[in-house]
Amino acid sequence: MGRYAGPVCRLCRREGQKLFLKGKRCFTEKCAIERRNYPPGQHGLQRARRRRMSEYAVQLREKQKVRRIYGLQETQFRTVFKQAAREPGITGDNLIVSLETRLDNIIYRMGFAPSRKAARQLVRHRHVLVDGRVLDIPSYTVQPGAEVSVKPRSRELPVVMEAAEARSGEGVLDWLSVDHKKLKGRMVEKPTRADVPLAVQEQLIVELYSK
Ligand code: SF4
Repeated sequence: MGRYAGPVCRLCRREGQKLFLKGKRCFTEKCAIERRNYPPGQHGLQRARRRRMSEYAVQLREKQKVRRIYGLQETQFRTVFKQAAREPGITGDNLIVSLETRLDNIIYRMGFAPSRKAARQLVRHRHVLVDGRVLDIPSYTVQPGAEVSVKPRSRELPVVMEAAEARSGEGVLDWLSVDHKKLKGRMVEKPTRADVPLAVQEQLIVELYSK
């Protein structure tokens, strides 16, 4: 199955919460969740009123939510999950940390792109350097100590400039250090699950995939 190319606000409405897929718009009153917080479709509102979900449905929704936040297809998501299950430690924690240390997510977290989708595009289009070398693989795992930057010639891109300007006054996550003026940053240390501000119950995903 290909990547979802429809209206992304539908995905948030389906999950009943903001997934922050659209950048600036997500923080305005134009956000679809602010205006119509019920599932999309003709009978969305009626369904929301009637809703009593099975255990499986709850687990499935949680998985879909995380998958959509990070913009992965099902097969990619499953691959990341399998890898997380093989690593020592708690599978759910490993899963979130792996997703969080993807290059496209790091670009988004550093504030060089307004959304993860835009960040993925920047990486794919070869605008991003890791330790001074072009890296065009969005799923690349950034290692602690690595320097991530926007290529000098790409620093004038409106999408980058606007995102960095909007975020320049804000702090970043403790495990990252960022210079918004120079459009570069570093992953200071590998995050733990507790370092990732993500309100999801990853244990439900582990239960879903263990069936
Ligand atoms: Fe989701 Fe952002 Fe659309 Fe709101 S504006 S529904 S948070 S993608």
